[in-house]
Amino acid sequence: MKKKILFYSILVFCSYNVFSQEIERCASEAFMNEKMKNAEYQKEHQEIQELFQANLIQNKISRKTQNELYIPVAVHFPTGSETNRACLVELAQKQIEILNQDFNGANQDISNWQTVKNNYPNSNTGAVNVKFVLATKNHPNLDPELLENEPAVTIGYNFGDGGDNDLKWAGYLNFLVKPIGTGILGYSPVGGNPLNGDAIVMNVDAFGDNTVGCGEFTAGFPFDLGRTVTHELGHHFNLEHIWGNGCSIDDGIEDTPDAASPSSGCPGMIPECGSINMTMNFMDYTNDACMYMFSEGQTEVMRAYIESVISNYHNDRLDPYHTNSTQNRPEGFSFDIYPNPSLDFFNIEMISKSNTEEITIHLYDTRGRLVYNRKSSVYTNHKIQTDIFNKGFYIIKIFGGGNQFVGKILIAK
Ligand SMILES: [Zn+2]
Repeated sequence: MKKKILFYSILVFCSYNVFSQEIERCASEAFMNEKMKNAEYQKEHQEIQELFQANLIQNKISRKTQNELYIPVAVHFPTGSETNRACLVELAQKQIEILNQDFNGANQDISNWQTVKNNYPNSNTGAVNVKFVLATKNHPNLDPELLENEPAVTIGYNFGDGGDNDLKWAGYLNFLVKPIGTGILGYSPVGGNPLNGDAIVMNVDAFGDNTVGCGEFTAGFPFDLGRTVTHELGHHFNLEHIWGNGCSIDDGIEDTPDAASPSSGCPGMIPECGSINMTMNFMDYTNDACMYMFSEGQTEVMRAYIESVISNYHNDRLDPYHTNSTQNRPEGFSFDIYPNPSLDFFNIEMISKSNTEEITIHLYDTRGRLVYNRKSSVYTNHKIQTDIFNKGFYIIKIFGGGNQFVGKILIAK
C-alpha cells in the first residue's frame, strides 16, 4: 500500500537476535542520515530524486520496451592480500552472478513464489533488466596490479582513505568489502550517486556465497548466499525496507504489503497491518535462503532510478559489447570465458545470440590433446568444474553453424 514515500528521514537501528549475538543486517538508514548532513550531497541527492520521479512516471505512461542496462562494477578489498587475488576475483564474479540473477528474476529459488503467491493477490515478482559487469578497460591509474583487460578488483587499496566513497572511482558501481564491526552486515546510501564514487559497503563475512571462501572473506551462515549485497544494492537503487516505518508509514511501493517491523530467520506467515508480511522480499531482514524476490513495483522504482543515473556510469570501462545499445554488440560467434584465471569452475557465456544451432565445446591441453568434449544447445551458458583438469593453460574451441571460436583459459587451482 502506498501512503507516503519515506526517504532517509527516520533513524532506525534495526536489530535482532541471531545465535545470541546482535546482528544488524543493515545500517543504511543511519548511514544515510549522516550523509544528508552534508549540504552539497543533499542537493545532488534531491536533483537525482527529481529526475527519478519523472522517469518513474514516464515509464508508467509509456510502458516502453526496456533495453538491457549495463553497469560497470569495481570491487575493493582494502584489507585483502594480493596473493589471494585469484580467489578474490572468483568471489567477486560469484557475487555479480548472484546479482544478475536476483535483479532479473532469474534466481532459481524464485520458483518458491508459486507456493505463496495466493497470500499476495495484488503482487507479483519483477525484473529490472540490468546486467552488472566487472569493468576490464581503462582502469584508473592507481595500482600497478590493476591490469588492462583484467577485472577491476582492488586489493590493499585504501578506498576513500578509509571512507565510503572515492572520487577516483566515480563512474563505477563500487562494492567495498571491509571489516565494519561485529554484527553489521552492510550499508549503502539510499539512492547512491555514481558521480560521488559511492560504494555499497559489506562486512567481510557478507560478500559472495558459501561456494567460494577466501580466508577472512568468507560468507557466514545464515547470510551466505550473497543476499546482503542484493539488499544493499536495492537501497542503492532507491528502495526502502519492506516495513517502511511501521503499519502507518510504508515503503512507498504500491505492491508490497504493509508490515509493522522487520522479520528474521525463516518465518512462516506473519499477518500484520491487515495483510501478510512479504518476508521473502529481498528488502526484509530474513535469512538469505528465505528471501528470493523483488516485487514488480520495486523493480519499477529501481529501473527508473538506474535510468536517472545511467549516464553517470563510465561505459568505456566495459568491453565494447557491454553497452546500452544492442546494435553495438557483435553479430558474430562470440563467447565470454570467466573467471580467467579460474579456480574451481569457469563459465562459457555466449555474447551474441545470432546462432541458434547446436554447438560443440572442445578443450585442448598445451600439447594439443583433446581433454574435454561436450555438445549442447547454443543458448545454454555453461559452467564447467575444473576438478577434472590439471593446473595450466587450455585452448577452448567452440564450433557451431559453420563458425569457430577460439579462446584460452588458465586453470590456477
Ligand atoms: Zn537495509
